[in-house]
Amino acid sequence: MQTNFTPAQLADPHVAESEAILRKCVHCGFCTATCPTYVTLGDELDSPRGRIYLIKDMLENGRAADKETVTHIDRCLSCLACTTTCPSGVDYMHLVDHARVHIENTYRRPFKDRLARSVLAAVLPYPARFRLSLKAAGLARPFAGMMKRMPLLKTFGVMLDLAPSAVPQPSTSAMPGVHTAQGKRVGRVALLSGCAQPVLKPEINEATIRLLTRFGVEVVVSAGEGCCGALVHHMGRENQALEAARRNVDAWLKVADEGGLDAIVITASGCGTTIKDYGHMLRLDPEYAEKAARVSALAKDITEYLSTLDLPEQDARGMTLAYHSACSMQHGQKITVAPKQLLKRAGFVVRDPAEGHLCCGSAGTYNILQPEISAKLKARKVKNIEATKPDAIATGNIGCITQIASGTAIPILHTVELLDWAYGGAKPKGL
Ligand code: SF4
Ligand code: SF4
Repeated sequence: MQTNFTPAQLADPHVAESEAILRKCVHCGFCTATCPTYVTLGDELDSPRGRIYLIKDMLENGRAADKETVTHIDRCLSCLACTTTCPSGVDYMHLVDHARVHIENTYRRPFKDRLARSVLAAVLPYPARFRLSLKAAGLARPFAGMMKRMPLLKTFGVMLDLAPSAVPQPSTSAMPGVHTAQGKRVGRVALLSGCAQPVLKPEINEATIRLLTRFGVEVVVSAGEGCCGALVHHMGRENQALEAARRNVDAWLKVADEGGLDAIVITASGCGTTIKDYGHMLRLDPEYAEKAARVSALAKDITEYLSTLDLPEQDARGMTLAYHSACSMQHGQKITVAPKQLLKRAGFVVRDPAEGHLCCGSAGTYNILQPEISAKLKARKVKNIEATKPDAIATGNIGCITQIASGTAIPILHTVELLDWAYGGAKPKGL
């Protein structure tokens, strides 16, 4: 794609990077066929190619974001199916990241949107606040229907619908500390505790710690770590995202420098995609660029790390799983084989639902901020999963677990919960 940025514009490293990305796009449109919003809405401006044109126009003309551009960029799930499809290697992720920051800095959203986004950014990344808000949601749930009919409160009504009916007790797996390896130590990892996952489903990291320590891996939950920053990063709130990244870099490198680390293990693929990008996010920060790159190089999805342990083959369990590959797993991190191989080796039959490349509509806060499109994608995903007639669903991202569970009665579990069970742990709750 031909671009017309001025030398003065290109002096801004963010603009220079976006220009290089734009120049790679050859307008072929292959990406449109795999874009969930184009498939759902049928509007070129809700396709990757359409959004690329809108971003080019906005950045090239150095203008503030307008309502039309914001509408179509907001509808993007950041699922990155387009980057898997694109034959020209267009780095859409970093282009849309830049566009979102530009929107946040130049566009004044209506009051109701600013309110909803500010509440999400102030609550979700902080486990204590999130836990408290979920408890409050339990009391307010009877008013969800009424709130969804009021424009100012619609988003809060959607949040009430998504809140679980019971909030699990806080787990020791989320507290800083060292979980000692059983037998001979073969490795040492830091485990991301994070923000929403330990509140919604602490059993995921509990299963991870059990499984890793059983196979001789010491697991450290680092003091000072917290939300990876993905939630605010996808809202264009760059300062808040970079602050979260720096805090985690400091926390993990302290552990690495004190006792060595083979990996930083992540059990939510949405977080993994962002942590693997810390090196890029902090590339212009002279104090953190190198440290962040070191953290990104250590970051591994739990299934990537488990694949290095050569877990023994187990007898067949007589259970069929539908494997839902989260977008952040298959498109963001390009991890497509390891989770299914581990499950098969552990004795499960694994099936791939049709249209596996399409997002389930969770996408961080997307199911709250874009509930109509999200509901359509959820229904499509659940239909494809149910068609495989599984006993249970396996996936590797808490957002997908919450989203899909709200649309089907089939139990849905994190891959690591099933692996922990297969290798000596208790049967997961809900099976
Ligand atoms: S990230 Fe997903 S929703 Fe956004 S343009 Fe690409 S394929 Fe479409
Ligand atoms: S597939 Fe790649 S090169 Fe083709 S239009 Fe989409 S982003 Fe551009």
